[in-house]
Amino acid sequence: MTTTPSPLRAPEGAGRGARPFLHGTEYDAVAKVLASGHWAHGPESESFERELASYLGVPDVVTVASGTVALSIALIAAGVGPGDEVVVPSLTFCASVQAILAAGAFPRFAEVDPDTLCVTPETVRQALTSRTRAVMPVLYGGRPVDLTPLHPVLDAQGIHVVEDAAHAFGSEANGRMVGAGAQAITCFSFDPLKNLTCGDGGALVPRTAQEAEAARTLRALGIKATYQQRAQTTGYEVAGFGLRAHLPSINAAIGRAQLHGFAEVVRRRRELWAAYGAAVADVPGVRVLHQDIEAIVPFNFVVLVPERDRVFHALREQGVGVGVNYPANHVQPAFSRWHRDLPVTEDVAGRILSLPFHPEMHKGDVAFTAAALTDAVRGARGPR
Ligand SMILES: *Cc1c(COP(=O)(O)O)cnc(C)c1O
Repeated sequence: MTTTPSPLRAPEGAGRGARPFLHGTEYDAVAKVLASGHWAHGPESESFERELASYLGVPDVVTVASGTVALSIALIAAGVGPGDEVVVPSLTFCASVQAILAAGAFPRFAEVDPDTLCVTPETVRQALTSRTRAVMPVLYGGRPVDLTPLHPVLDAQGIHVVEDAAHAFGSEANGRMVGAGAQAITCFSFDPLKNLTCGDGGALVPRTAQEAEAARTLRALGIKATYQQRAQTTGYEVAGFGLRAHLPSINAAIGRAQLHGFAEVVRRRRELWAAYGAAVADVPGVRVLHQDIEAIVPFNFVVLVPERDRVFHALREQGVGVGVNYPANHVQPAFSRWHRDLPVTEDVAGRILSLPFHPEMHKGDVAFTAAALTDAVRGARGPR
């Protein structure tokens, strides 16, 4: 009997940090839209909106061109603008912060809980000032953020909650889908690496019919009339400021196919998270960022390790697609005007490491990654 030596380089599934999952139905769906000639916002985009609303159990969903622009539009629709301050964790994708600037407002960086990498009612409360007009919690890794204890304070000061739920499509909070809570405008991203993708795109869940109308006008260059109404008249009214930020039908078709197959992605992401949890639970020096995978759809698998940069490079040398979600924003040159002392954020930002995580991964990918991580943390060089 011969023993197979373990591979020296990561197998394919572990080599990519993340990648979209194809159900196969996307090809026909896109071909149909191409043949229809309705490539921009159209019936397909509106069907996607209705299906998203029904999946989330909400009255309405507004699709847009990206998760980033969903955040900007949500802020503007809520009345946030120039001179206003938006509380946001520093530990997020830079898109959250750029979306605030794009709305004309500026960020007020908040600390996170090192055990969840999310803001808490307390870290948000500590960041509030007289200029705060909105709070943007980031649902890191898919985890819901509950600001209920803070709502009396927020309501009294007219502060809106715009959730960055880019990671959290499909997650549940207290038995309801993320997005179905009445207190926040929830924004999703459907970019290629998110739980649900449509190529590039996003959506927001408005709190009221007025907010929905404002968001639809903002995404359509300030034009209120629908594309059906515009076909009936010689003119149109530009009611106010607007962006060109609709979700094209081509992308909506991909999104619809992905939504129909979403249960499979949920199952695979939860299984993958559990397999990783078991594989790295006892690795000395490695701490797992825990997630309640019964309730959430995990977006990533994050560990905290010593000498993170060395461990990162050691894993990369073995072909393992590790990454960092995310470098802190308050120390970025673009945002340094809004720097605050955030010791917890700076500490965790130097220790977090995201292991390869996508629905195409197999047990062998997890085993290889876990073994390579063990070696890297131990400081061992080269193959096992
Ligand atoms: C992906 C992401 C966004 C932006 O979404 P896009 O669709 O890529 O514009 C915003 N916030 C977070 C936390 C994200 O991960």
